[in-house]
Amino acid sequence: MTLKALTSDQLLSETKIIVSEERRITAKLIEHLTEINQRLLFLRLGYSSLFEFVTKELGLSEGAAQRRIQSMRLMQDLPETRQAYENGSLSLSNAAKLQSHFQASKKFGVAKTIEEKKEIAKSAENKSQSECDQMLFKLSPELPRPEKAKILSPTLRELKFSISEELFKKIERLRELLGHSHPNATLAELMELLVTSHLTKLEKTKGLQPQGAQKCNANTQKSAEKNSDQNADSNSREMGENPKMAHVEVGKTDKNNLVHTAAKTLPVGIRVALPVQIKRQVWSRADGRCEYEYQGRRCTSRYQLEVDHVHPLALGGSNELSNLKLKCRHHNTFSAIQVLGAAKMSSFRK
Ligand SMILES: [Zn+2]
Repeated sequence: MTLKALTSDQLLSETKIIVSEERRITAKLIEHLTEINQRLLFLRLGYSSLFEFVTKELGLSEGAAQRRIQSMRLMQDLPETRQAYENGSLSLSNAAKLQSHFQASKKFGVAKTIEEKKEIAKSAENKSQSECDQMLFKLSPELPRPEKAKILSPTLRELKFSISEELFKKIERLRELLGHSHPNATLAELMELLVTSHLTKLEKTKGLQPQGAQKCNANTQKSAEKNSDQNADSNSREMGENPKMAHVEVGKTDKNNLVHTAAKTLPVGIRVALPVQIKRQVWSRADGRCEYEYQGRRCTSRYQLEVDHVHPLALGGSNELSNLKLKCRHHNTFSAIQVLGAAKMSSFRK
C-alpha cells in the first residue's frame, strides 16, 4: 500500500510509530557504542577516539556522533535517562547538553552529585533545546559557554568562546605592550601572533618541519621566531619536560576518559628518561603523528603524543630508535594494556 492510500489518521499514527521506533533503535545504537567503548575496539581499529570511529567508520555526521556519545555517557551515569529518551520526554540534544554541563561543572570545580544530576536531568524533560540551555545557564551562570567554530568560507572561520575577566584584562595589557610593534591589533591578529609564536617554539623543540606557522604573515612569523630563540628553555618546560631530558610516562590517568581509566590498572610510575635528541628523532620520523597502525590504517591523531617503547624497558627493551614509536595517549595506553595481557584487560572491562 502506498502512503497516498492512507487516511490522514493512519498516516499520523504510522509516523508516530516510526518516531518511537527510531528512538528505540538509537538507544540500541548507544548500547552498542557503550560496548565498543568498553572493549576499546575503536583503538584496535586505529582510531584515536570513539568520536573518530563513529564519524569515519560508521559515517555519522559530527553533530550526530557528538549527541550519541554524550548521551551514552549520560546514560552510563544515569541509567534512568535512557528510559526518558525512549519514551520521548528527554531529547538526544538535551541529553548531550546535560552531559556537557556536568563535565564542565566538574572541570571548573563545581562537580554535581549524582542526586543533583538526577534532579537536573528530570528538569530537562519535555523542554526544548533553548529552554534546556536557559535552565542550565541559570543553574551555573559562572560556567563558560560551549565553544563554537563556524566555517564562513574556505579560508575563514568564526570562533565563539567565553573567557574570564582576568584573561580579558591580560589581553588588554598585551595589546598595550604591543602598541608599537602591532598598533591597533585586533583580537584575531593577537591570536595569530600568540599561536604562531607557540607553534614555532613547539615545532622547533620537537624537531618538526614548520607547518602551522609557515602560512602566517611575515611580520608575525618574524616576531614568533625571535620569541622562539629567546625562550628555548621555557619551551621544554611548557611541554612538561625537563630542558635536558624528556620523560615518557606510561599509565597516566585522566578521570574523564574511559581509556585513561583503564590505565589505572597499569603499574603507574614507569618513567623512562629519554634524551631529547632521541625524542626529536622519533617525532621527526613520525612527522608529529601517532604511528599506531592496524591493517594499513594509521591513526591520524596529533594530539597528546607520547613516545612508546614497543618492547617495554621493564621487559628488556631498549632506548634504540627502532624500539620507539610515537603514539597518541590513547594508543600508548592501549599498547600498554596489550603488553600486560588479557588479565589486566579483563579487570579493566569489569
Ligand atoms: Zn593514535
